[in-house]
Amino acid sequence: MNESVPPIKVHHHNQYLISFFAGREPGKRHAEERNWVDDSAIKLGTAMYAIHRGAEAIVYDTFTSVPHAEFVRFYLEKMGIRKFSVVLSHWHLDHIAGNAVFDDFAIIATSLTRDALVRYKADIEAGKVWGPPSIAPLVFPNIMFDDHLEIRVGDIDLDLRRMNIHSIDGCVIYLPKDRLLLAGDTLEDPLTLHDRGGEPRRSRQKPQGNAELGCHQDPSTSRWPKAGSFPSNPTARYTIKISSSCTTTGKTRRCRSTLAARS
Ligand SMILES: [Zn+2]
Repeated sequence: MNESVPPIKVHHHNQYLISFFAGREPGKRHAEERNWVDDSAIKLGTAMYAIHRGAEAIVYDTFTSVPHAEFVRFYLEKMGIRKFSVVLSHWHLDHIAGNAVFDDFAIIATSLTRDALVRYKADIEAGKVWGPPSIAPLVFPNIMFDDHLEIRVGDIDLDLRRMNIHSIDGCVIYLPKDRLLLAGDTLEDPLTLHDRGGEPRRSRQKPQGNAELGCHQDPSTSRWPKAGSFPSNPTARYTIKISSSCTTTGKTRRCRSTLAARS
């Protein structure tokens, strides 16, 4: 393991679900100068998940750096896991920075996630999207879906659904057996709705948006829960409801999904 990796808290939630959390506590900095890993992702705190059965695991996101992702892979390999699949929650850098650690396996994402990474590849590899550090080489997802994809690890079904929350390309994982939702950044602390669209983080001076990604949001109203649509009390309890309508044409099943939060 790379010695520069900040502390990672590992928690086994049940027999098949593990979280790896880094952040919100002092640790060795990635770099002296201000950078998005130390001063944004790790400061806020971020997690990577593994759903495992036998020698196989599906990991949700690849953390904020290659060393973080290597920690997770080594940890799982020590458990006897030999086959991995990655599911990316969205294209933001703190969720895809360790893709290279899993470049020998399937990396699944929405088509919009791949589109965004292809579009910003040069800037991501040059450290120009959120500033340094760069992510190079950037490894793209190699299996894409539009709205809905069902996958399985052992006897555990995973229902992948695209959600236009936080970012237009979001992908959440629903485990119907246990009615468990891995929400990625669609659910933050307390609950935020926004899309940074590649602009400098924390910029609230100009309207955010990315016409190519279909986002036109005003940061003065979109970064925080909107009165009337979501409760603004950070101590409120939220429940998530998923509903969907599906149609089957030949062998293709397409689903439109909605995600709702309420206090
Ligand atoms: Zn994000």
